[in-house]
Amino acid sequence: ASAAEDKDLVIIGGGVAGYVAAIKAGQEGMKVTCIEKRGTLGGTCLNVGCIPSKSLLNNSHLYHQILHDSKHRGIEVGDVKLNLAQLMKAKDTSVSGLTKGVEFLLKKNGVEYIKGAGTFQDEHTVKVQLNDGGETTVVGKNILIATGSEATPFPGLHIDEKRVVTSTGAIALTEVPKKMTVIGGGIIGLEMASVWSRLGSEVTVVEFLDQIGGPGMDLEIAKATQKILKKQGIIFKTGTKVLSGNTGGELVTLDVDAAKGGKQETLDADVVLVAIGRRPYTGGLGLENIGLELDERGRVIIDSEYRTKIPHIRCVGDVTFGPMLAHKAEEEAVAVVEYIKKGYGHVNYGCIPSVMYTSPEVAWVGQSEQDLKKAGIKYRIGTFPFSANSRAKTNLDTEGMVKILADPETDRLLGIHIIGPNAGEMIAEGTLALEYGASSEDVARTCHAHPTLSEAFKEAAMATHGKAIHF
Ligand code: FAD
Ligand code: NAD
Repeated sequence: ASAAEDKDLVIIGGGVAGYVAAIKAGQEGMKVTCIEKRGTLGGTCLNVGCIPSKSLLNNSHLYHQILHDSKHRGIEVGDVKLNLAQLMKAKDTSVSGLTKGVEFLLKKNGVEYIKGAGTFQDEHTVKVQLNDGGETTVVGKNILIATGSEATPFPGLHIDEKRVVTSTGAIALTEVPKKMTVIGGGIIGLEMASVWSRLGSEVTVVEFLDQIGGPGMDLEIAKATQKILKKQGIIFKTGTKVLSGNTGGELVTLDVDAAKGGKQETLDADVVLVAIGRRPYTGGLGLENIGLELDERGRVIIDSEYRTKIPHIRCVGDVTFGPMLAHKAEEEAVAVVEYIKKGYGHVNYGCIPSVMYTSPEVAWVGQSEQDLKKAGIKYRIGTFPFSANSRAKTNLDTEGMVKILADPETDRLLGIHIIGPNAGEMIAEGTLALEYGASSEDVARTCHAHPTLSEAFKEAAMATHGKAIHF
C-alpha cells in the first residue's frame, strides 16, 4: 500500500493509554490513527485485566456470600450451585460490551483504527502488518508508543495458560482447580487467589517478601489484609521463595524454600498462577530501527513531557515509568496530547490511587508509613475502625479501618489507607482531598452524610489531629 496522508498523531497500541490518547486527540481536532494488533480495543485492562478480573471478583463474592454469609441475615437459600461456564460468559459479555463501546468512541471522534501490528520503519513511518493479511504504512507528525506490558515469566516454568497460567489463563479456567498455588502475593495474586478460593479451590500464595500486597501497600494494612484473607481460607507462605517447578507429573510441583534459608518443601497443585509482576512490552516494535533504547527494566526512556530522545515520538502507560495502572495510563494519555497540542500538560504522580478489589477492598493514595520513615518525614496517624461505623455495623460488614497520615506541623494530608467495605470508592474522596492539599481538619470539618461508610473517613481525620467522636 502507498503511504497514507500524514497524520497529526499515530498511536501504536489501543489499550487504555492508546485509546484515551486517540479520543482526546480527536476531540482536539487532530488527525489520528490508532494501531492495535489484538483485534479488539481496550488493551490488557479491558480484555484480560481490570474488567474481566472485576467481573469474576464481583460474582464469586456474591456466590461466596450466598453460601456463607446469608443465613444470619435472615435469608435462607436452597440448592446453591456454581455454573462456571455462565460466570465466564457474564465476564465475556462485560468485556465485549466495553471493547465495542471504545471502538464506537474512536469512530465518534474521527479516529482511524487499524487492526494490525505496528513496526517503526523510520522516525515518522510505521509499517503495519494487517490482521487480515497484507500491510500498510502510516506517516505521523507525532507518534505515540502505548504498547503496554506483559506478565513476567518465572524462569524454568513453561506457561501453557492451562496448568501453569498467568492472569490471562487464571480468568479463563474451565473448571475450579482442586488446588492452586499462586507465585507472588501482589495485587494480581491476591485478587485471583480470592476468586478461586471463593469458588472452592484450596489456594496457597507463596510470597518472597515478608509482606503481601506488592509495592506501595502500607505495612499495617498489609498485615490486616493477610489476617482477613487467611480467615477466608487462603494459605500464605510469606518470606518464601520458589526455587524450581516441575510440570512433568499429574500435578504441577514447586520446590520452595524460606527466603532467608531454611526448610525446603514441595507444593503440588492442579494449577499454578505466576503473578510476580509485569514487564514492559516492546516486542516487534522495531525500536532498533530508530535507535531508541530501553532502561535496565525494559522501559522506554522518556523525559517529563513523555518525549523519547526523538522529540516527536512520545510514550505513555505501562511500557514506560510509573505504576502499571489503567487510571495512571489514562491520565498520561490526556497529558501527552495536551503537550503535543498546547505545549503543557500535567499528571500528579503523588496522587494516584491504588485499589485491590478483594473482600474487603484495600485502597490507598499518597505515602505509606514506610515511605515516610524512609524519607525521614514526620507524621501523625489517625485511625478509625469500621467496627465503630454505624453503616458498616448495619450491613454486618465491619472488618477493616481507615488510616490517615498527616504532617504534624501543617496538618496537611500525606497518605490515606483504607481496608474495608467499598474502600475503592471511598478512596476517591481521599484522592480529591490530597489533590487539593487538604489538612486532616479540612476533612474532619466537612459534613458527611449519616449513616454512610464515608463517616469513617471523616472520623479518622478527626483522630489525626484530635479525637474521633464514635471511638
Ligand atoms: P495495555 O493495556 O497493555 O495496551 C497495550 C496494547 O498495545 C495491547 O492491546 C497490545 O496488543 C497493543 N500492542 C502492543 N504492541 C503493539 C504493536 N506493535 N502494534 C499494535 N499494537 C500493539 N489496573 C488498574 O488500574 N485497575 C485494575 O483493577 C487492574 N486490574 C488488572 C488485572 C489484571 C489481571 C492485569 C493483568 C492488569 C490489571 N491492571 C489494572 C493493569 C492495567 O491493565 C494496565 O495498567 C493497563 O492496561 C495499561 O494500559 P496500556 O494502554 O499502557 O497497556
Ligand atoms: P506486583 O508487583 O504487584 O506483585 C508481585 C509480587 O510477587 C510482589 O509482592 C513480589 O514480592 C512477589 N514476587 C516476585 N518474585 C517472586 C518470586 N520469585 N517468588 C515469590 N514471590 C515473588 O505484580 P502483580 O501482582 O503481578 O501485578 C502486576 C501489575 O498489574 C501491578 O503493577 C499491578 O499494579 C497491576 N494490577 C493492578 C490491579 C489493580 O489495580 N487492582 C490488579 C491487577 C494488576
